[in-house]
Amino acid sequence: MFSYSGNDLYCEQVPLADLAARVGTPAFVYSSQAILCNYQAYDESLGALPHIVCYAVKANSSLAVLGLLARAGAGFDIVSGGELFRVIQAGGDPAKVVYSGVGKMADEVEYALESGIHSFNCESEAELELIDAIAARRGVKASYSIRVNPDVDASTHPYISTGLSQHKFGIDITEAPAVYERARQFRNVAAEGVSCHIGSQILDPSPILESVDKLLELARALRAEGFDIQRLDLGGGLGIAYHAGEEAPAIRGFIESLQERFRESGLSVVIEPGRSIVGAAGVLLTRVLYRKRNGPKEFVVVDAAMNDLIRPSLYRAHHDIVPVRHNPLPKITADVVGPVCESGDFLARDREMANVMPGDFLAVRTAGAYGFVLSSNYNSRLRAPEVLVEGGAWRVIRKRETYEELIRGETV
Ligand SMILES: *Cc1c(COP(=O)(O)O)cnc(C)c1O
Repeated sequence: MFSYSGNDLYCEQVPLADLAARVGTPAFVYSSQAILCNYQAYDESLGALPHIVCYAVKANSSLAVLGLLARAGAGFDIVSGGELFRVIQAGGDPAKVVYSGVGKMADEVEYALESGIHSFNCESEAELELIDAIAARRGVKASYSIRVNPDVDASTHPYISTGLSQHKFGIDITEAPAVYERARQFRNVAAEGVSCHIGSQILDPSPILESVDKLLELARALRAEGFDIQRLDLGGGLGIAYHAGEEAPAIRGFIESLQERFRESGLSVVIEPGRSIVGAAGVLLTRVLYRKRNGPKEFVVVDAAMNDLIRPSLYRAHHDIVPVRHNPLPKITADVVGPVCESGDFLARDREMANVMPGDFLAVRTAGAYGFVLSSNYNSRLRAPEVLVEGGAWRVIRKRETYEELIRGETV
């Protein structure tokens, strides 16, 4: 949904140069059409199978994005009470919410039960005991799946790989049957599913297929022991192309490769995609402030920084950076850096790129997931606004912060 027409880069039918001039920079811009297309690719390819596509809120939790997905029928995967609050504010249906995460707190469990969420993905026996106690006090029965750790290698960045036994997530799949068994004593929780999530930005889906097979086997074994297992939650994690021309798995093809397994199992399916729904649907617009040269090294100093988009600094992640308006000059090789006082503050290093001048706009591509949500006020920089494009129309869905908002809640 981001493409050039003539020399100008558009998001849907909106020229980004105009938008940048109107809203200012830095600014995140999302294509609603791209978000909905990706959601529908999951929903439609799961087809007649009973399923919920639970969008992983942590990838991009802006109310307008959640609202767009809620109206399309999505459920949500949350990892905190704050995310549940956002889902409810955005008009999401709590009955389609699954609650994941290794450190759920008592007040969050209380809030989730009060809101009537679909199910908990439990990561330890102690957590199950807490949920049972709170559910008993409220006089309700909470549905749960155990998040198992299938001990498969997602072959992704170590910070976002979660499915090996060395990681803090889940319960070892070999120990899970005993945990389900011991949990029979808890009268206010019901074992209804098995879940996993092995990592993020997975470009080769075979480890996901491998873990699905392990989950199906576990579900069969539990059913044989008399547990009423009704669903399989396979987490999120499908990767996207960050480099132009890079191959990423197609959502529809990925789901189709699982169809047969799901159909035979008779289980309903929950899937928790985040990045693959919003990642490619967003860009970060930034303006060139200065060009400078230190010895042989060329720098393009821009007004977006690591506090706006931390992925390059944190994961050494690559984002394509393209001009919002083409110019005919020969390309340059430069580091694209922001104003933050750290050498780790860069958006790209030794990048062959357009020969831009101060005042030109650049688009940092594929910034819709783990972009704004990981932004901060470091260096007391104001957090960037967010804009949602729908066809030829656009609206600011989060205003740029002000100095007043920067110090909200503080006292001298
Ligand atoms: C982060 C996360 C997701 C989403 O991962 P993506 O790579 O963004 O698809 C899904 N489920 C759980 C439990 C997560 O922690």
